[in-house]
Amino acid sequence: MSKIAIIGSGMSGLLAGLGLLKQGHDVTIHSALSAEDWLTKVPPTGTACRFASSLDLERELGVNHWENSTPINGIHLTFCPKMGRQLIDLMGRLDRMALAIDVRIQSYRWTHDFQERGGKVIVENVDLARLEEIAAAADLTLVAAGKGDIGRIFEVDKARTVYDKPQRKLAMFVMKNLELDRSRDGIPFEYGIKFNFFATAGEQFSIPYWHKDGFQCWNAIFEARPGGVFDRFDDCQTGEELLARVKELFKQYIPWDYAWIRNAELADPKGWLKGAFTPCVKHPVGTLPSGRNVMALGDMANALDPIGGQGANNCYRQIRMLLKSAEANRSSTFDAEWMQATFDAYYEEIGEATNAFNNLLLEKITPAAQRILIGQYGSDGRPDNASVHQKVANAFVNNFDDPNSFTRQMLEPQASLKFMNEVSGGRAGRVDIANKLKIGKGQIRQVLGLPRSSHPLARMTP
Ligand SMILES: Cc1cc2nc3c(=O)[nH]c(=O)nc-3n(C[C@H](O)[C@H](O)[C@H](O)COP(=O)(O)OP(=O)(O)OC[C@H]3O[C@@H](n4cnc5c(N)ncnc54)[C@H](O)[C@@H]3O)c2cc1C
Repeated sequence: MSKIAIIGSGMSGLLAGLGLLKQGHDVTIHSALSAEDWLTKVPPTGTACRFASSLDLERELGVNHWENSTPINGIHLTFCPKMGRQLIDLMGRLDRMALAIDVRIQSYRWTHDFQERGGKVIVENVDLARLEEIAAAADLTLVAAGKGDIGRIFEVDKARTVYDKPQRKLAMFVMKNLELDRSRDGIPFEYGIKFNFFATAGEQFSIPYWHKDGFQCWNAIFEARPGGVFDRFDDCQTGEELLARVKELFKQYIPWDYAWIRNAELADPKGWLKGAFTPCVKHPVGTLPSGRNVMALGDMANALDPIGGQGANNCYRQIRMLLKSAEANRSSTFDAEWMQATFDAYYEEIGEATNAFNNLLLEKITPAAQRILIGQYGSDGRPDNASVHQKVANAFVNNFDDPNSFTRQMLEPQASLKFMNEVSGGRAGRVDIANKLKIGKGQIRQVLGLPRSSHPLARMTP
């Protein structure tokens, strides 16, 4: 049994703590927030929609308390190269359900689970001097402090990091008093995620959400490109101001979803946040002034822009590798070499693909992804749809759960062509031409002020 200290009681700290307890270790979590603080003092760290493979980890640890709350089974994406003009819709069905549970109720509940199973929790804000003391008394110290200042002890890994500044300005808001079932708006999923992509302004997405106070609602985000038309949240001082700005933006730029959001209210006074951060991968080993080593975990090790809903899922991917590597560590020596090897194994297995997938969504669409988006045109998300279009749309959305499955097809032209030929029986070229014609027709109709009759959604959108 080793003595393990963890800084932070977000999902990374708690799930790692629960897993290490299960392996028989003596685990203490040092957290700035008590269980009750999570419920009353803070906004959710993020939307944190988690896909099926992540939820499997919660099941393995016996902390999957919210299985039937808002089972998300599909994603509807609307892509608009020009403001106000819906070029392409994609309706992809997830193979297995996802869930977006308020991280505040999770940290509250999991802190209690952790303590009931023998874990210790110390509520304190850990500074560098205190981290030295903690590391001196532990065999392994994990720093799972999110984007907290203490992260300065971990250097950015320039070889694995793409950006040196934030790519989007974020505004997140948790809303109630609006329809959960959006089938009248053309979303054929019981609980479906809605993405609106705009090539120049940024993105807006909305996710069915289980609120900490025990009701279904929506958690939504604007991802504003700095200086673009969505970059309108700097002066908002309260959640109400932010929500009012959100409604203005919907009315002007996303009119097809305005009726849906018009009567929305903030779900709770703390249910919003705004800000910006630089996506990065860090060196996982931090060396304290004493020479002792500590290991970064979760967002502290690898922070991703929320655009691809990968951040939390990526925390779970790191934790899986951490637990596997701790179990295999017969010598119980958790030195810098072990920390680096553990993180490298995660990164090579799935971290690299996760970052590549997430970052490609931040960039101008690649020719490979363009082929995929055109190839899926006509998908309607229905479970009995066995068409080529639906297979392409489903492959795209299931990549959110396993970025190793379809990222290459969206980055490499040859891989996307091969995939399209596989699903269409060698007719990739014909599918491409036929769908381009339909998309062109839909565009002309929109310019003329007519509905986009060639797409299954045309009857539902203005
Ligand atoms: C707007 C937004 C939307 C998002 N949407 C998604 C999504 O849909 N899907 C997805 O997968 N991911 C999403 N994410 C990312 C996801 O929320 C994060 O990856 C995840 O919450 C990180 O968890 P964590 O435990 O590593 O860190 P945190 O949740 O940040 O927890 C860190 C903890 O450490 C504590 N702490 C910090 N410093 C100290 C200190 N010095 N001493 C003691 N305690 C300390 C904090 O109080 C906190 O308890 C989103 C992020 C944002 C910002």
